[in-house]
Amino acid sequence: MDDTIAAISTPLGEGALAVVRVSGPQALAVADAAFQPAGKSPLKPSAAPSHTIHYGHIVEAGRRVDEVLLSILRAPRTFTREDMVEVSCHGGPLPAKRVLDTLLTHGARLAAPGEFTQRAFLNGRLDLTQAEAVIDVIRSRTDLALAAAQEQLAGTLGRRIEAVRNDLLHVLAHIEAHIDFPEEDIAPDTRDGLERRMEAALQFIDGLLRTAHDGRVLRHGVRVAIVGRPNVGKSSLLNQLLGHDRAIVSPIPGTTRDTIEETASIRGLPVVFVDTAGLRESGDVLEREGIRRSREALTRAELILHILDGTEALGEEDRRLLEEFSRRPRLLVRNKSDQPLYPEFPVLDPAPLPVSCLSGEGLEALKDHIRERVWSGGLTAEMAEVTINSRHQDALRRAQTAAEESLQALRADLSLEFVALDLRIAINAVGEVVGKTITEDLLDSIFGQFCIGK
Ligand code: GDP
Repeated sequence: MDDTIAAISTPLGEGALAVVRVSGPQALAVADAAFQPAGKSPLKPSAAPSHTIHYGHIVEAGRRVDEVLLSILRAPRTFTREDMVEVSCHGGPLPAKRVLDTLLTHGARLAAPGEFTQRAFLNGRLDLTQAEAVIDVIRSRTDLALAAAQEQLAGTLGRRIEAVRNDLLHVLAHIEAHIDFPEEDIAPDTRDGLERRMEAALQFIDGLLRTAHDGRVLRHGVRVAIVGRPNVGKSSLLNQLLGHDRAIVSPIPGTTRDTIEETASIRGLPVVFVDTAGLRESGDVLEREGIRRSREALTRAELILHILDGTEALGEEDRRLLEEFSRRPRLLVRNKSDQPLYPEFPVLDPAPLPVSCLSGEGLEALKDHIRERVWSGGLTAEMAEVTINSRHQDALRRAQTAAEESLQALRADLSLEFVALDLRIAINAVGEVVGKTITEDLLDSIFGQFCIGK
């Protein structure tokens, strides 16, 4: 990393401030060329002490580009562990762009997506789980998701992965020592000890793998489809559930007018509610397309919320929907509980939860039920603070398979070469999680998901 990168790190658009970041060995030289200090004791950036802020102007060919504050951050106490300069300029796409252009003229090059974070990883400032947590923090939509991402950013997951990797390395060292001296058998005690250590490591990996479901929920949300015949109160319920708990969301790509998708924080979990346009048969081409999309949204939902109207008899469509979703994870909701229950309302399985969108009755209980259904939560206390992502899951599954084979070979008294071979595969796979063993392609695919300037 002998070049110096620069990018606008704040979102494009109008704002009070924008921040342009520079990182690399030439960061201070670039700032010297582009920045004219002002005020009582003006200092050139390269003469300024680390972690200080300076007032002045970005200038290009003698012309003032913008009035700015410049932060000087010298290696190694910086995000990238390189020399860094941060320019706070006026918000708005044009001032930030012109400040960036000036910095690029003076020797910086435009950063690739995620390149600041990638440098932080490559320079040992973050392990790979922490680098990934940066994007989780940015994208988190509920308090719980944010807390989990921050825990990972602090290195909790990385430390656990390191611990299990060190355990496996310890076993490998023993095995390899015996391969080097084949005339000496492993003492039974030692063998027992090694087996127990591998068993413990496998148990630990299993515990981590069990967090994958909740990790997916926190990172991507869980999709809950609201179904029911017209007028049972689907829209009313959706509004109630979104209510004050509406999560901070960016629009979900692919949202169509036929199905409404909104994310709410349900007990801290990002839940994407899908209100389907209706599933009735229709001859109209456009409407049929809407129905097709509704059906597609329904197949992707992890939970079905089927709303019934408790003030009326079940209709034909209610029964059809009851039958259609009988084998899907679902909750039945009996809405309008503020009104008298229809005398011949049937007994259903599962028993419908009484709810009133008018009085609010039953809504809190419904939220508890939703949470219970989508959140495994049955994690050991030890694992409560970590949730792995799908990349970690893939690597840990490979580690699990290889470690199991290695343990079986050891138990079966097979050649220690076999034991070591699988153990090395397991150690490498565990190492992938934190980035100890990783390919260029994988790095590109991870950091390519970031935005420029991060
Ligand atoms: P949708 O067609 O299933 O989306 O149903 P809506 O949400 O549009 O509601 C249909 C009608 O039922 C409206 O007139 C609502 O005011 C009424 N409604 C919805 N929820 C309740 C409720 O809990 N109690 C009562 N009494 N009326 C409700």
